[in-house]
Amino acid sequence: MMSPKVLPCALLLGLSAAPSWGQTLPSVVNSEIGNLVETYKGIHAHPELSHFEEHTSALLADELRKVGFTVTEHIGKYPDGSQAYGVIAVMENGPGPKLLLRTDMDALPIVEETGASYASHIKAKNLAGQEVGVMHACGHDIHITNMIGTARALSALKKQWHGTVMIVGQPSEELVDGAKAMLADNLYQRFGTPDMVVGLHDTNTRAAGTIGIVSGPAMAGVTSIDVVLHGIGGHGARPQEGKDPVVMAAEFIVQLQTIVSRSENPRDPAVVTVGNIHGGTKRNIIPDEVTLGLTTRAFSDTAMKIIIDGVKRIAAGVAVAAGVPAEMAPTVTILPNESAPPTYNDPALSAKVKSALVKAIGPQNVFDEEPIMASEDFGTFGLEGHKIPTVLFWLGAVEPQKFAAAAAAGKLTPGLHTARFQPDPELTLRTGVTAMTQVAISLLHK
Ligand SMILES: [Zn+2]
Ligand SMILES: [Zn+2]
Repeated sequence: MMSPKVLPCALLLGLSAAPSWGQTLPSVVNSEIGNLVETYKGIHAHPELSHFEEHTSALLADELRKVGFTVTEHIGKYPDGSQAYGVIAVMENGPGPKLLLRTDMDALPIVEETGASYASHIKAKNLAGQEVGVMHACGHDIHITNMIGTARALSALKKQWHGTVMIVGQPSEELVDGAKAMLADNLYQRFGTPDMVVGLHDTNTRAAGTIGIVSGPAMAGVTSIDVVLHGIGGHGARPQEGKDPVVMAAEFIVQLQTIVSRSENPRDPAVVTVGNIHGGTKRNIIPDEVTLGLTTRAFSDTAMKIIIDGVKRIAAGVAVAAGVPAEMAPTVTILPNESAPPTYNDPALSAKVKSALVKAIGPQNVFDEEPIMASEDFGTFGLEGHKIPTVLFWLGAVEPQKFAAAAAAGKLTPGLHTARFQPDPELTLRTGVTAMTQVAISLLHK
């Protein structure tokens, strides 16, 4: 490091290739971190549910505008015609590649139990009109704040990169329909198609100060399926007069287990879960129908097709075996708005991102991660067939001493989507802003 005595001379002579005094990545992070932690606490205390991110998106838009981005709000159209609160912020900085950085913005219907001084006490109506507690239990508040910090750093360090940075504030990740809504509103036609897409997600599986990254398939794709098994209801004591959909449902669920165990390639992982089942009103009444809600996960299109075909085949087969008339065959509905493609970390881009992460936080703090079966709609920004390379990395979020104490007991601290998920704001944001900014600078290197 140059001593302060030498530096002004170099600057006076115009000889310094290094950024001007006070404008290194660590110094920008140091000067912003206090404000970023306060911003995080404010966002955390005021979470908004998927489809309702009005104030959160306005705050993000405002912060990005302040540091020189050209910002457009209200991007995104849902299938019912309603407007989404998507944000796109563009900073052009000479010729070069276009890099899209994505943050999500929505919170979850959970009553917070962290006991933090900045805990959420917000209650709001969900899409179904029910009042629920709302909490940033997936850490999207960390992601938003991290993006604000990254935008500030990239703006301050403009001399170190060239090209175009496109920051996307995505609504409704938790319902996996926000990315689709933004693309359906011609995001790329209006603002340009990026050459690369990078995002991050916080995690309780790593300590704050560390980052994990997967090369190749990183998160499974999800397909949501609703099944209605139609039967013929009647008196519970006269089953011979009906076709009992409750018995059919029992057989259906057992048979579903053979999709993964007998139809799928064991080397291509998949999951079929029945998350809800509803049927009947009273012990002695055979109902007319039973409905089941399924979530299914897979990394490949082949595996997902085997699952969908299997669900349809087994539902039809169970009805036939029960003697249900053909015109009352089960109804199987795929829910495209609650489905998302796998998150595929392009190996070449992953390698570049990983070396930037190592440069940013040191090799001892960067870990190779395993793929997981959880899903995200981040992959949607890569378009079908992974046309645009994408990478999503994992940002450790647990206060290191708490993480170590839990690990010593063979446990983890409370995870994403729980009422006690509580990131360590300062170290997580310090690491995340440093990492994301370095990744952008390295990918858009002069
Ligand atoms: Zn989530
Ligand atoms: Zn999330």
